[in-house]
Amino acid sequence: MAILIKDVAAYRNGKIVEHSCIEIEGNYIKSFPENPNIEKYTEVIDGENMLALPGLVNTHTHVAMTLFRSYADDMALMDWLQNKIWPAEEHLDEDITYWGSMLAFAEMIRGGTTAFNDMYMFMDACAEAADKAGMRGNISRGLAGVSPNGEKALQENIELFHKWNGAGDGRVKVMLGPHAPYTCPPDYIKKVREASLAHEIPIHIHLSETRAEVEECKQKYNETPIKLMYDLGLFDCSSVIAAHCVHVNEEDIELMAQKNVKVAHNPGSNLKLASGIAPIIQMRKAGITVGLGTDGASSNNKLDMFSEMRLAALIHKGKNYDPYAITAEEALDMATIEGGKCLGYDNLGRLGIGCLADIILIRRDGFHWRPDFNDISLAVYAGNSMDVDTVIINGKPVMRSKQLLTIDEEKLFYEVERVTQKLYSFAQ
Ligand SMILES: [Zn+2]
Repeated sequence: MAILIKDVAAYRNGKIVEHSCIEIEGNYIKSFPENPNIEKYTEVIDGENMLALPGLVNTHTHVAMTLFRSYADDMALMDWLQNKIWPAEEHLDEDITYWGSMLAFAEMIRGGTTAFNDMYMFMDACAEAADKAGMRGNISRGLAGVSPNGEKALQENIELFHKWNGAGDGRVKVMLGPHAPYTCPPDYIKKVREASLAHEIPIHIHLSETRAEVEECKQKYNETPIKLMYDLGLFDCSSVIAAHCVHVNEEDIELMAQKNVKVAHNPGSNLKLASGIAPIIQMRKAGITVGLGTDGASSNNKLDMFSEMRLAALIHKGKNYDPYAITAEEALDMATIEGGKCLGYDNLGRLGIGCLADIILIRRDGFHWRPDFNDISLAVYAGNSMDVDTVIINGKPVMRSKQLLTIDEEKLFYEVERVTQKLYSFAQ
């Protein structure tokens, strides 16, 4: 199957090239032909007055937590987790998780997000929904060593790897998901490390999200969470993506850079839970790959990567009193090519020959796109998820003219209503 996107403004090598054509064959971008023969393509997409960007990569999610959206807001992380989220999560099942995940994927595709990195439970249901929706995603079973089923969960995560890694035409990858140092004691982290090294499974973990977490870890182990993980050898695993890293010191940053730990920066979630602002300028200077994420829809209330790009660009200028701290181009890079690296891809997140064909087309006909001197500046500072017109993942269109092609919207709303009733029956 070959697809041609014609007459589109393509963002390539840091420049917008107006009236470009993009040729897609199989899962990849094959070429940017100058005068293509339209007749040889199975599908031709007219990109007139649209901007083609690489699909956005959300590097930290808990997708089925869409169903906790607006259930408990304006609370501190621990109060929110212990008194609201963890009790409610007891009532999840495969069916609820499947539809909660599908709701997230509909929102993601509509908003131009083509890849995600998830840690949660009932991950078979998440993987099935991702496969059906046509999403690209890394999935991990959330592992808590303090839980009575910690050992069983680790086994489930390894089984998940054997069952799903590379599935969906290569779109699905599996990681191990030790939740955090405060839920995974050192002995348990060592077991996760052994499993990771034995099967070459990358790691997805939360680190140093709040000040209280770091203080507690220092009291208990006399080390910061990052130094503790370093000493336990977790960073020797094939690849580690650490979410948050808000409260880190210079030594933490050095250790992460030395071990090539990648960071998922979640500005919206960190601000909403009043956790702080991660020092990503220092991390990037140290050579750390930093991607952007939303975290769960429960903490952020949305899975919108346009708003994360804008937040990332704005808050670091404000925090550092530096208008150059994160530019629009850098925010877009973090949401695309850097995010792709976080997920373990070196051919994702840019429009180049041989790259995976995850492409979004953005309409430039809104009031907020006038006048148009700089498309990337507009996409980051003025653009929003509703500007996205067409989404292609792994060479397959999943949305055309804002119509979802892989998800039945009417059925989705019906099923979400049904599983919401089921999930919250405990509260009645
Ligand atoms: Zn999280």
